[in-house]
Amino acid sequence: MSRTYLSHIDSNIPKANLADHQKAVFVLHDQLNLDAWPSWIREEKPLLIFMESAGKGQELPHHKKKAIYVLSSMRHFALECAEAGFPVHYYSTKKHFDDGLKEILTNHESLNLTYMTPSEWDSRERLQKVKKEFGKRVEEVPNNFFLADPEEYKERVKDGWLMEYFYREMRRKSGYLMNGDQPEGGEWNYDEQNREKLPKDHPLPKIAETEVDEITAEVIEMIEDWYRESFGKSENFSYAVTRRQALYRLNEFIDERLDEFGPYEDAMAHGEYELFHSQLSVYLNNGLILPKEACDKAEEAYKNGKARLNSVEGFIRQIIGWREYVRIYYEAMMPEVREANHFNFTRKLPEMYWSGETRMNCLSECLKPVIENGYSHHIPRLMVLSNFSNLTETDPRELNRWFHLAYVDAYEWVVLPNVLGMSTFADGGVLASKPYVSSGNYINKMSDYCKHCEYKISKKTGEDACPFNYLYWNFINKQRETFTQNGRANFMVNMFDKKSEEEKGMIRQDSERFIRDLEH
Ligand SMILES: Cc1cc2nc3c(=O)[nH]c(=O)nc-3n(C[C@H](O)[C@H](O)[C@H](O)COP(=O)(O)OP(=O)(O)OC[C@H]3O[C@@H](n4cnc5c(N)ncnc54)[C@H](O)[C@@H]3O)c2cc1C
Ligand code: SF4
Repeated sequence: MSRTYLSHIDSNIPKANLADHQKAVFVLHDQLNLDAWPSWIREEKPLLIFMESAGKGQELPHHKKKAIYVLSSMRHFALECAEAGFPVHYYSTKKHFDDGLKEILTNHESLNLTYMTPSEWDSRERLQKVKKEFGKRVEEVPNNFFLADPEEYKERVKDGWLMEYFYREMRRKSGYLMNGDQPEGGEWNYDEQNREKLPKDHPLPKIAETEVDEITAEVIEMIEDWYRESFGKSENFSYAVTRRQALYRLNEFIDERLDEFGPYEDAMAHGEYELFHSQLSVYLNNGLILPKEACDKAEEAYKNGKARLNSVEGFIRQIIGWREYVRIYYEAMMPEVREANHFNFTRKLPEMYWSGETRMNCLSECLKPVIENGYSHHIPRLMVLSNFSNLTETDPRELNRWFHLAYVDAYEWVVLPNVLGMSTFADGGVLASKPYVSSGNYINKMSDYCKHCEYKISKKTGEDACPFNYLYWNFINKQRETFTQNGRANFMVNMFDKKSEEEKGMIRQDSERFIRDLEH
C-alpha cells in the first residue's frame, strides 16, 4: 500500500465516529481561524472536517513551498482543534473535496453540514453543488475573513470606481487613523514620502525563521514524493505554520520593520528580498492572522510613537484598501475576467520564469526568491516580472497562471485581480487607469540591479542596450490606441512620435529580435 504520510494526524487525533454526530463543519485550507466562524461553533464544538484533496492539489503544479505551507498549517490547525476538544475528521482523498463530502453525507444520513462561502470561485461552485444535492442538510455561512461586504461595492467597482475612494470609505468606516471625519495628519495618502531607494549598507532587520517540526517534515517528504516535478524548491522551508508563530511574525514586523516600511516600500536591492515588507500575505490569506489584527497593531504602533505616519498609513492602506478592493473586484468580475486579454497577446511565458536563468540581472534577482521561497514583494511582481511579460507581449492568462502557482500567498481571488486587472491591463482598464509598463529607468531608480547587469541601462538601442528601454517604446508605439485614449498616458505616444525615424526603426528592430530570441 502506498504511504499516506498522515502518521502525525493518525496518531494524535482520535478517530471520530461520524455516526455519532449530527452537526459537522467543513473547514477549507484557507479558513484556519475559528474566531472568524459563527460563535455557535466555538461554543458547541461540532465535528470539524478537514480534507486534503489530491484533485484540488493537481489543478496546478503549485510551488512546493506553497503546498507544504498550505498542508502543514491545515494539519497544525486540525491538531490544535482536536487538543481544544473538537472532534476532528481529517482525511486525504484522491478525488476533489466535494466528492469526499458527498460520500460522507451519503453514508451518514443523520449528519448536517455547515461550510463557509469559499473565497475562490471553483470551490464555491463545487460546494454549491453539494448544497443543491443535499438540500437543507447543508448550510452555507458567509465568508467572514474579510472586512468589507462585496455586495455593497461590487457594482461601483465594476464601473471603474477607484481604489482610492473605496479606501477613504473604509477609513471612515473602520476609524483607522481618523480624527473625526478627517484623516490623521490632514492627508489620506502619504505615498509622496514613500518612494526612496535603499541607501547603501542600510541595516535590514532579519525575519525569524520557524524550525521545521515533525509535522512539517512529514508534509515535505510527501510533497517531494508525490509532486517532485512541481515548481520551486522545498529546501529551507521556514514559514510560520501555526497561529502562534504567525502572530510572532506580525509582532516582529510591527516592532522591527513597520517604521521604515513606508520610505522603502518600492525599493529593491541585490540579495535582499523582504526589506521592510511584512510577508504577512501568506498568513492573512489562510486565516492564521486576521486583517483587523494586523491593522489594529499597526495603528497602535503609530499612536505609541513607534512607527511614522507615512509607514502606518501605507501599510493600513494595503490591507483595508487594496486587499479588500481586489477581493471585491474578483466578486464583481468573475468568471468572465478569467479570459481577459485586452491586447490580444498570444506569446508563451518566457522560459526564464521557470528556470530563473537570464542575463538580465533585474529578472534574475526577482525570480530567485520566487523559485526559492515563493515570495517577492509588490514591486518585483509589478514593475519587473509583470512589466517584462507585458513588454514581451506574453498572454496575460499565462502570466496569471504562473503567479498563481509560483507564490505561497496566491489564491485566485487575489492573484487574478492583481495580474489581469492591475499589472497587465488585461481587463482593458477596469482596475488600473493605465498599463503598468516602464523602461529600465524605473528599475534603475529603485534598485541597485543595473550596476551588476551585462546590459547597459544608459543605452537605448543596440545589442547591449537594456532590453526594457527599447521594449518599452515599442510597446507604447504598438499599443498607441490604448495610450491615446487615456489622458494621463497620451504624452508618452507624443514623445515616441517626436523620436527620429532612425531611432524608431532601431527600437522596432531590437524589439523584434529580442522577442524572437526569447522563443529559442
Ligand atoms: C502581479 C501581482 C501578483 C500578486 N499576487 C498576489 C497574490 O497572489 N497574493 C497576495 O496576497 N498578493 C498578491 N499581490 C499583491 C502584493 O504584491 C502582495 O500582497 C504583497 O507583495 C505581499 O507581500 P507582503 O505581505 O510582504 O506585503 P506588504 O508590502 O507588507 O503589504 C501588507 C499587506 O497588504 C496586502 N496587500 C498589499 N498590496 C496588495 C494587493 N495589491 N492586493 C492584495 N493585497 C495586497 C497584503 O495582504 C500584504 O500582506 C500581487 C501583486 C502583483 C502586482
Ligand atoms: S540594465 Fe536593464 S536588464 Fe539590466 S538590470 Fe537594469 S533594467 Fe534590468
